[in-house]
Amino acid sequence: MSEKRELLRVFNIERFATEDGPGIRTVVFLKGCSLRCRWCANPESQSFRPEILVKVNACGGCGRCASVCSEGAVRALSGSGYVSDPDRCIRCGSCAENCFSDARELLGKDYTPEELVKILLRDEEYYLAGGGGVTFSGGEPCWYSGVIAETAAMLKARGINILVETCGQVPEENLREVSSCAEAIYYDIKHVDSLRHRELTGAGNELILENLRWLCGNYSGDLSVRYPYIPGCNDGEEDIQEFFRLLRELKLEKAVFLPYHRLGTDKYKGLGRKYEMGEMESLKKADLAFLVEAGAAVGIRVTIE
Ligand code: SF4
Ligand code: SF4
Repeated sequence: MSEKRELLRVFNIERFATEDGPGIRTVVFLKGCSLRCRWCANPESQSFRPEILVKVNACGGCGRCASVCSEGAVRALSGSGYVSDPDRCIRCGSCAENCFSDARELLGKDYTPEELVKILLRDEEYYLAGGGGVTFSGGEPCWYSGVIAETAAMLKARGINILVETCGQVPEENLREVSSCAEAIYYDIKHVDSLRHRELTGAGNELILENLRWLCGNYSGDLSVRYPYIPGCNDGEEDIQEFFRLLRELKLEKAVFLPYHRLGTDKYKGLGRKYEMGEMESLKKADLAFLVEAGAAVGIRVTIE
């Protein structure tokens, strides 16, 4: 995997977003991540390669995609619909162009910083009026640190606020570059125990913790540490206490907990992948309310988003 990328590979640009930072924002979702969290709500973000995502509920089952695919990459699902095999697919986009139900999309379009800025400036007046801005999310945006820094410099010259969401599993150099151009960083911790972290995400957490330590000592912007609360994975009392101990050791006084949800389930189907969380039900914010008190007991201000 290259550690520096020349173009921004984007799989979604969400305008008028209100949940990924303050005010009205545009969220740029970058493709590719080195973690494989079991509960990931954006499985289409994980691979660095472009890929076909099928909206299974929109697919009428006509089979046209299979007939136009020169690679034999389209296969029927056992229930209904047709998905593409990423190992055979050459990403020509023909199936998506020929789907009359608009059920197929080729995700992963490359932009130069200039091209992306032009798109992002469409909503400049909304960012500036309401304390919003641009959020880089993913996938893992820090793999694109050089081109994000270039993009951010153009946006910041116009007074636009920059926020970056990261899982921290990137070289420190990339994190440094991104942090120097972001007013705020949302930083995920999935588990404090490295072995368990590896079981849940495919990688240990040493680099993530090291990068968090670096940020705590060097970053002057707004650092928000976030904990996706996933039943059966990292919700044990001791798991949570370990997380609080880590925050205290780093002299951090606040944390955000994110309740598990299953909004990405259909995307797994549309990519022809298995959803590892089975039938686990989504949680509500109220289900996590007890964490506010648990945090307060050890001097951590907890919010639930
Ligand atoms: S994805 Fe589109 S072209 Fe393929 S079977 Fe479904 S509706 Fe037809
Ligand atoms: S993008 Fe091209 S190669 Fe891939 S499944 Fe569609 S038609 Fe086949």
